[in-house]
Amino acid sequence: MSRYLDSVCKLCRREGEKLFLKGRRCLGPKCSFERRSYPPGDHGQKPPTRARGDFRRQLRTKQKAKRIYGIFEKQFRNYYFKAARQTGITGENLIALLERRLDNVVYRLGFATSRKQARQLVKHNHFTVNGKRVNIPSYLVEVGDVITPREKSRENITIQEALEFSKQRGAPEWLEIDSDKPEGRVQGAPIVEHIASELNTQLIIELYSK
Ligand code: SF4
Repeated sequence: MSRYLDSVCKLCRREGEKLFLKGRRCLGPKCSFERRSYPPGDHGQKPPTRARGDFRRQLRTKQKAKRIYGIFEKQFRNYYFKAARQTGITGENLIALLERRLDNVVYRLGFATSRKQARQLVKHNHFTVNGKRVNIPSYLVEVGDVITPREKSRENITIQEALEFSKQRGAPEWLEIDSDKPEGRVQGAPIVEHIASELNTQLIIELYSK
């Protein structure tokens, strides 16, 4: 499987906003975007020569969504087709599918400081879903699922530090975290409104519908 090996901070600079891809560092003075908020590359500091057309806005929104969730094009496109086949609003279905990924849920529950870290922890067999070990970051959780670090991973320093760090962030309403056990539970379907307001999914739908 391919991996993105370049600096993820360049992705924030390309999108022109903080995407919070590096956990703790994103909130401190070392954040690259705070110091260089222009696009990467030799021409990054030059003013844009063209106005933003529809296609460009659609493309950038799709790229931003992919980058936030750490997904490559083929997989993202598959999520779109799956969302389009479901009943309801395709954009909301798409966000709900992305939110239900196990790596995203581990991050949202506070077991990791970023989705990238969450993905690595999942891949390294640190988590169980309903008591069964799951090491697939794209695994889709269901309502009622219980996510816990494995017995021998409970003292894992990365998970402990992340739980401490994430206390201020809190979990979204559709998830419940008990940091003492520690244990997370999926209480309902992802609430997508606040994410949809940040990510204009309509632009993504328009791009793929061409
Ligand atoms: Fe983006 Fe975080 Fe890097 Fe800042 S530190 S540029 S928010 S990934």
